[in-house]
Amino acid sequence: KRAKSTGRIEAYQNQAFAIAREQFGMETALRRAIERRQLRLAYQPIRSLATGALCSFEALVRWTDEEGVHRMPDSFIPVAEESGLIVPLGRWAIDEAARTLAEWDRLIPGNGSRIAVNLSAIQLQRDAIAPVLQGALDRSHLTGDRFTLELTESAIVSDPDRIAGTMHALQALGATLAMDDFGTGYSNLAYLQKLPIDVLKIDRSFVTGMIADRDKIAIVRAILSLAQALGMQTTAEGIETLELAQTLAVLGCTYGQGYFYARPLEAPAALEMLAEATAS
Ligand code: C2E
Ligand code: CA
Ligand code: CA
Ligand code: CA
Repeated sequence: KRAKSTGRIEAYQNQAFAIAREQFGMETALRRAIERRQLRLAYQPIRSLATGALCSFEALVRWTDEEGVHRMPDSFIPVAEESGLIVPLGRWAIDEAARTLAEWDRLIPGNGSRIAVNLSAIQLQRDAIAPVLQGALDRSHLTGDRFTLELTESAIVSDPDRIAGTMHALQALGATLAMDDFGTGYSNLAYLQKLPIDVLKIDRSFVTGMIADRDKIAIVRAILSLAQALGMQTTAEGIETLELAQTLAVLGCTYGQGYFYARPLEAPAALEMLAEATAS
């Protein structure tokens, strides 16, 4: 019997080692990918629900590793956060988004499109984001009003005073601030009146299946009326059907994003979409 339980412990240990090794392997590969500029951004359109007009794109990081495997952010962002690589990754994302906007401006003058960049809570704790954005704006000769920055409630819970300072500094640069995955965090709502938030993003978990689910629709309505009362705009994520787009438009949600409109696009396809939107 003892031998059996020892064997089991060994099996657990081996498994723990295997996980640690894999994490470390990914960390090394990710560090290299950042250094060698092997990450790229995909761009998912965000449209006005009332008119269908193209308003902005959310930048979502993509990584194809040296074996040609496509890795999705949910698999490597946590590794980046634990290892501190989220700081160079996050700086790169802001800079890359700025370079993309500058390129779009060169090819489609006056397009006025915006890009939304995701900020991790860890990145906000460890880096000074406003100077990072300022640097990217200077290098690409852009104004801050072309950027939205998406942050999550976890950023606020961790260090509210520091975050408030950062948010005011970002707003002073002209950037729009969006609260991502709204309603899924654990914070109390008092921060909503204290912080300069422009947009609430309704998490996909409330949008998916909401038409057939009275509880979900009640939550969505509550978020929309809260936003309206506080003078904020709203974006619904995860719109996969026409029916959802129409329902959310009727409910008064400002913007929509999801596979119904488009999946995240590689930069050339996003440029093409922007060219069409600007021409019409
Ligand atoms: P998120 O910020 O909530 O981004 C939305 C995610 O939902 C994206 O997944 C997007 O591809 C996906 N999505 C969009 N529309 C639909 C839809 O209609 N149906 C479904 N099922 N999914 C949809 P993605 O690209 O895998 O990104 C996952 C998460 O990784 C993001 O969630 C964000 O938290 C994080 N992330 C992505 N890029 C970055 C980045 O550059 N920096 C940081 N810190 N985090 C990032
Ligand atoms: Ca986001
Ligand atoms: Ca989100
Ligand atoms: Ca989400």
